Amino acid sequence: MSETIEFQAEARQLLQLMIHSIYSDKDVFLRELISNGSDALDKLRLASYHDKDLEVDTSDLRIELEQDAEARTLTVRDNGIGMTRDEVVELIGTIAKSGTAEMLAQMREAQDAQQAEDLIGQFGIGFYSSFMVADRVEMVTRKAGTDEGVHWESTGEGTYTLEPVADAPQGTAITLHLKPEDAEDSLHDYARPETVRRIVKRYSDFITWPIRLVTSESAEDGDTEPINSRQALWARPRSEVTDEELTEFYRHVSHDWQEPLETMRLSGEGTFEYQGLLFLPSHAPMDLFMREARRGVQLYVKRVFVMDDCEALVPEYLRFVKGVVDAADLSLNVSREILQQDRQIQAIRKRLVRKVLQTVAALQENEPEKYATFWRELGRAFKEGLLTDPDNQQAILAASAFPSTHSPDGTTTLKAYKERMPEGQESIYYLTGASRASIENSPHIEAFRAKGYEVLLLTDQVDEVWTDAVSQFDGTPMASIAKGDVDLGEGDDKPEGFDDLLTWMGTELADDVKEVRLSTRLTSSPACLVGDPGDLSPTLEKMYRAMGQEPPVTKRILELNPQHALVSGLRDKQEAGEADPDVARLLYGMALLAEGGELKEPTAFVNTLAERLQRTL
Ligand code: ADP
Repeated sequence: MSETIEFQAEARQLLQLMIHSIYSDKDVFLRELISNGSDALDKLRLASYHDKDLEVDTSDLRIELEQDAEARTLTVRDNGIGMTRDEVVELIGTIAKSGTAEMLAQMREAQDAQQAEDLIGQFGIGFYSSFMVADRVEMVTRKAGTDEGVHWESTGEGTYTLEPVADAPQGTAITLHLKPEDAEDSLHDYARPETVRRIVKRYSDFITWPIRLVTSESAEDGDTEPINSRQALWARPRSEVTDEELTEFYRHVSHDWQEPLETMRLSGEGTFEYQGLLFLPSHAPMDLFMREARRGVQLYVKRVFVMDDCEALVPEYLRFVKGVVDAADLSLNVSREILQQDRQIQAIRKRLVRKVLQTVAALQENEPEKYATFWRELGRAFKEGLLTDPDNQQAILAASAFPSTHSPDGTTTLKAYKERMPEGQESIYYLTGASRASIENSPHIEAFRAKGYEVLLLTDQVDEVWTDAVSQFDGTPMASIAKGDVDLGEGDDKPEGFDDLLTWMGTELADDVKEVRLSTRLTSSPACLVGDPGDLSPTLEKMYRAMGQEPPVTKRILELNPQHALVSGLRDKQEAGEADPDVARLLYGMALLAEGGELKEPTAFVNTLAERLQRTL
């Protein structure tokens, strides 16, 4: 009846890390197990609301920590939702968490123990952390509403065994056979009641379910000792809550082991009564840019957990915000679909968004270091809001930061940019592209540099998308310097005598460009490529291709610098009827290379170039 099963490869690697305990604060294993137990109780209560026929006992939902000093075991027991055999295989035998492979790869490259520990901290290990303190772990679990339970056991070394259990109680009991070496260290001896009381107080006091301690003595007289105060943190006045409690609560809701970057409180009274306790994380969640990325806000109704990952409360671009919203006047039975329509939820969502934007703006204003962390870790997701949340576009722009030609390695706010704008400059200028190095020296910038106009250098993928949707900041137009005409106020003295050259080149290059015209944005380069407003940029085209889509062909515009000797020389040749089409093609290729683009036929370009060079030797 007993079967032995191998852990999935990633799970095996993580278990090895746990067994050799690279994490210095082993106490956190208990926080993780209690957190899982608390989630299991939440799920059971919800399931019983939604399914009245479910045969479960919800009369005394709780978490028990049972110690056996002689056997040196600690059992963490909940009478929550439990798991079926298949769920155990899937949830405990494998790691479905996104970003696992990436984390393990980074781990292999980690330079030192601290770096490795930070990675584990960012990832969070959950149930597997039991192997930091136990050399063998047993679990008996029975899914609510089913008859047969399952016994799971492992030393964490490659395999685990499963066996059916006929009379398992509802819920999950995890028994840790404690490593002998921890017995020497009374502070970390998990068979001692003092140790467990201390850890629960520190890490899990706010858990709203009762946590009870059962020791060898108390079990004899059937006594159990409540060891958490069970107060919902968001309902307590800020002055009574310590920073450490907030951090531990953050860790519970976010499954993150790090400290939060910032804490936010939300409350509403009157018709819609609600309270919220929200956090900005200090690093990007592993799944931030994955399709299945989850939103981190839980919904409670009058202290009772209703749902995880409540997308109705948080727009997608703020998916990194973690925490809890507790609303007073909702049905416990509410579904995700109904929530999307609910007026109260919409009002809370609006307030929540405003609160987050204000908090980010305040960091930007007052705490540059924290803001820099926020921006580095989460800025790319945040900027998605410029496209998806038109109502808050201006506030998001104001709270954003952008690299620019003004600061060689830092960023600027748009407000600071505007303050630096010289007389005569009418727009906020930007250039998008794949990397700072490739666009910083692109020909498009020349005339702007010459005039002392600052240019924002936008190199995140998302920049390619929002820039088309944003036309102004605080009344000042925003303009791409690689799109449309630029008017740098040089007056109307248009150079004469180039019309024939432009027509001739337009015909020669008809396959590649839609127009050839004179430029006002060049000073030292002979030519550059630009688009019309609304055209796909080359980077965006590439992004579409990378996603397996074939974008419509966008021909670009070739602009020539009439001041450049190559251009005026070519005009003279053309007037004399001696212009060489190869030169037109070389000019086009050079413009493409100068902006970091790729030639369609590099060999043909190089052959033509070599042949022309040869003639000049
Ligand atoms: P995480 O809690 O971060 O998802 P874990 O490895 O701790 O990761 O747990 C994996 C999954 O196993 C949980 O998401 C949950 O579905 C299930 N699980 C763990 N502990 C319990 C428990 N006590 N009761 C029911 N399910 C559990």
